[in-house]
Amino acid sequence: MRNTKAYAAYNATTPLAPFKFQYRDPDPNEIEIQIQYCGVCHSDLHTVRNEWGGTNFPVVPGHEIVGRVAKAGKRVKKFKEGDLAAVGCMVDSCRKCAACKAGEEQFCEVGPIFTYGCPDKKHDCLTYGGYAEAIILDEAFALRVPKFSNLAAAAPLLCAGITTYSPLHHWKVRRGQKVGVVGLGGLGHMGVKIANALGARVVLFTTSPGKTEDAIRLGAKEVVISKNEAEMKKHVNSFDFILDTVSAPHSLDAYLELLKRDATLVLVGAPPQPLPVKASNLIGKRRSFAGSLIGGIAETQEMLNFCSRHGFACDIEMIPIQKINEAYERMIKNDVKYRFVIDMKSLA
Ligand code: NAP
Ligand code: ZN
Ligand code: ZN
Repeated sequence: MRNTKAYAAYNATTPLAPFKFQYRDPDPNEIEIQIQYCGVCHSDLHTVRNEWGGTNFPVVPGHEIVGRVAKAGKRVKKFKEGDLAAVGCMVDSCRKCAACKAGEEQFCEVGPIFTYGCPDKKHDCLTYGGYAEAIILDEAFALRVPKFSNLAAAAPLLCAGITTYSPLHHWKVRRGQKVGVVGLGGLGHMGVKIANALGARVVLFTTSPGKTEDAIRLGAKEVVISKNEAEMKKHVNSFDFILDTVSAPHSLDAYLELLKRDATLVLVGAPPQPLPVKASNLIGKRRSFAGSLIGGIAETQEMLNFCSRHGFACDIEMIPIQKINEAYERMIKNDVKYRFVIDMKSLA
């Protein structure tokens, strides 16, 4: 057992502040990672402000983690001390249910053990995330890090990358298709890059006119300011697929109308409030409305390898941990380009 430095939210209304917890020694199948970088996801913000309800305080957020293996238990095969390793949104699951057997641990029927704020019965504790010096987990849920020119920029792939890669993959987005991405934040900017790398013709929908140039640089062929109804109408019945990454209430009907017959709108954004849908927008053209949650462990490794092979990661702004509350305020104002990453050296 040893003291581990971190930052935590102690409740839903006060700023994040320094926190210390006692960490176990790694089990034989576990590794301890000394965290170098951790991305800042909008889910961290929803959680610390208890916007979805059910947050277990104090919560140490962070599920976009990269670092070096500091200790490896004696049964660990995939890693040795000194290797790079990464952790996303889950640290374990039951491994026995149909979802786990299918490699879709995110849909574990018992419930995955999420990286932070989640009861871990085996170790009789709550999980603590990446806004910390270290994390300990079973090697089966840790990812290998392929070559990236900037390791810090790879951290947000562990959530923003997989959450956009998985639905693009599942719905078989391919060359020549017209694909919409709604919202240019952490998830959205990776949706644009990945859909573009798959050969799709990407149209980015944004509420922020100032992001137009960046969207084109990131791979979009066209940018639509979603508040402009006339611009939106030009795209009615034309999309093969739309990925919606918006974190706040917004009109789904505005995007359902833009789908072709039989096409699908997938929501990955998780606004806390229910969102209405007009039946005729689904019935009329047999359109589908679906959701998607991160991705399985094997698929996360596949996504890391895909991004490395294509030579891209995330566009990031590095911050010290002491700036985390400011980063959250900027996130609420849609002022993120396009992911904050915490340099964990700043905890020392
Ligand atoms: P983010 O970086 O804050 O980006 C969200 C973007 O949504 C903003 O940059 C903005 O883009 C747009 N937006 C915000 N408020 C809006 C509004 N009122 N109307 C229209 N557009 C608005 O957040 P993120 O980290 O990408 O996360 C996005 C959402 O996905 C969050 O709800 C998060 O919890 C969820 N999430 C889900 C999963 C999953 O597995 N399904 C995984 C990770 C995160 P523009 O400025 O371009 O309009
Ligand atoms: Zn996330
Ligand atoms: Zn399971």
